[in-house]
Amino acid sequence: MGVKVAKFGGSSLADAHQFKKVREILFSDPTRCMVVPSAPGKRSYTDVKITDMLYACARLAASGENLDEQIQQIKERYEEIARELEVDFSFDEPFETIRKNIQLGIGEAYAASRGEYLNGMLLAAYLGWTFIDASEVIFFQEDGRLDAEKTQKILSERLKGLSNAVIPGFYGSDATGAIRTFSRGGSDITGALVARAVNADVYENWTDVSGCMMADPRIVRNPEVIRSVTYRELRELSYMGASVLHEDALFPVRIAGIPTNIRNTNNPDEPGTFICYEAEDDESKYPITGIAGHKDFAIISVEKTMMNSELGFGRRVLQALEEQGISFEHMPSGIDTMSVVVHENSLVGKKEKLVARIHELCQPDSVEIHSGLALIATVGRGMVRSKGISACLFNALAKAGINVRLIDQGSSELNIIVGVDNLDFENAVRAIYRAFVVKEKLW
Ligand code: ASP
Repeated sequence: MGVKVAKFGGSSLADAHQFKKVREILFSDPTRCMVVPSAPGKRSYTDVKITDMLYACARLAASGENLDEQIQQIKERYEEIARELEVDFSFDEPFETIRKNIQLGIGEAYAASRGEYLNGMLLAAYLGWTFIDASEVIFFQEDGRLDAEKTQKILSERLKGLSNAVIPGFYGSDATGAIRTFSRGGSDITGALVARAVNADVYENWTDVSGCMMADPRIVRNPEVIRSVTYRELRELSYMGASVLHEDALFPVRIAGIPTNIRNTNNPDEPGTFICYEAEDDESKYPITGIAGHKDFAIISVEKTMMNSELGFGRRVLQALEEQGISFEHMPSGIDTMSVVVHENSLVGKKEKLVARIHELCQPDSVEIHSGLALIATVGRGMVRSKGISACLFNALAKAGINVRLIDQGSSELNIIVGVDNLDFENAVRAIYRAFVVKEKLW
């Protein structure tokens, strides 16, 4: 029998009602036998996540203030969930220990991790499943990075032969036994590590949306859900601003060849989005997979006649950037011009020095910096084989009256990146979406 690992985000476990949905989902499929919970999230727009409350406790303790009130509020949230679920679980002792440790200044990571730890214990009691403390199976190096090898070894040994288990997300421990956490949203990573350790058939990531959207719903009204996307495409989309999973969550499952399925706890009948190593092109009814982008880039244009015949010119421009600690995003170039796209904020306080250094190193005819550029990536594995994609894209932008200031198409032909004025960003995204998705019947 195959195994599915199911990770549930904070909104999926925000209250007792949500816990019930989670149990139903888990019990409706016997192969869903490993579960990774986040800490309880917001119950409403104005609510506060348990993790944020715990970080606040650590800050209070660091400034020598008393924590009793805050700890009591957090405890009451867990008690309310347990009471409504009719789970007989006393939080008195765990909270006494947690309060003491945080008050003694044990640190932020420990404080934040307790959200997942307590939720894991509660969920295990509710399901009647085995609880495994993540600090015993997820390991960090001294510099705070994951110790992937040790984790894979110990986690897989520990889970072998277990018919079910609850492993809290977000945290683990280092070689000294101290608690460490991933960055925010890191339960996604724990889920992927568990999936890899048990060689799962699928890593299910349950959240409150029905999958990844083809475009940002704040820009395009009710965008279509992406049914299938490859790990490479998703990497391109996430890099350009689409927020789906924690970016480090893709790696463990990708290398193990395990597909990830994003699902909606509030709508479990929806198939969600499948993220696979390879996807059949004909699975998608659209020629593109998704659109993502963001604002506030700057383009540095360096011009020099006969640049093309000058050996090492590009290296010297990049050297100037490196010396200032500026990393670049794209480098679309012409015969006598070289353009480098960087994040606008990476230039703050460095512009003059950078321009002077490029002059020194390269003796160009001119160096100009234009800011206020937005980049939009139109991503699709099918693009490589479809004709007329660029024509359609640029036509749509022209019709919308949008001036394209930069074009970059990676050699993988997985995406086409255009640069437009910040002010045109939203309209450009909508125009591209309309051209490929709304009018798909024209294709
Ligand atoms: N609870 C943590 C956070 O809020 C980790 C997670 O939910 O993945 O960031």
